[in-house]
Amino acid sequence: MARDIVIWPNKVLTTPTKPVTDFGEGLTKLLDEMTESMKEAEGIGIAATQIGVSLRCAWVGREDGTFFEIINPQILDKSGPVVLEEGCLSVPDYFDKTPRFHKVKVKYQDRVGEWHELEAEGRLAHVLQHEIDHLDGHVFVDHLSALKRGLILEKMRKLQKALQRQKKE
Ligand SMILES: [Zn+2]
Repeated sequence: MARDIVIWPNKVLTTPTKPVTDFGEGLTKLLDEMTESMKEAEGIGIAATQIGVSLRCAWVGREDGTFFEIINPQILDKSGPVVLEEGCLSVPDYFDKTPRFHKVKVKYQDRVGEWHELEAEGRLAHVLQHEIDHLDGHVFVDHLSALKRGLILEKMRKLQKALQRQKKE
């Protein structure tokens, strides 16, 4: 079942996640719920925190439209600073230029606990950095100026209020 996407600055989004240690049915169920929530919201990636679960796992979208799960990911290397337009399901309707790296090397586990290493560049590297940021308790707005963050905060509070009103009706 698709779950509601958590809106920044909810605490679950600003707290580092715990590593996944149980690669059983619970993880499969969580990954399924994350996929459904991501598809409903039309995202190209989603972290567990975005449906309110503080565990180190996320889905990452490839350029061909397929997705793969990353469990307990770590960035081993990054190179080529770039500035890219970025958005997030947890910060609806806001996009801004964010400092990132063109290339990253990551290691991560899959749903059965097997380790993989991946060198990625371009959009895939961008999505990986965005999702791993989430798992470290960061959202892309953390890379922006305090002034901008303040304005976005105001915007998100208004949005939260409007959503709550909608739910009551
Ligand atoms: Zn995001």
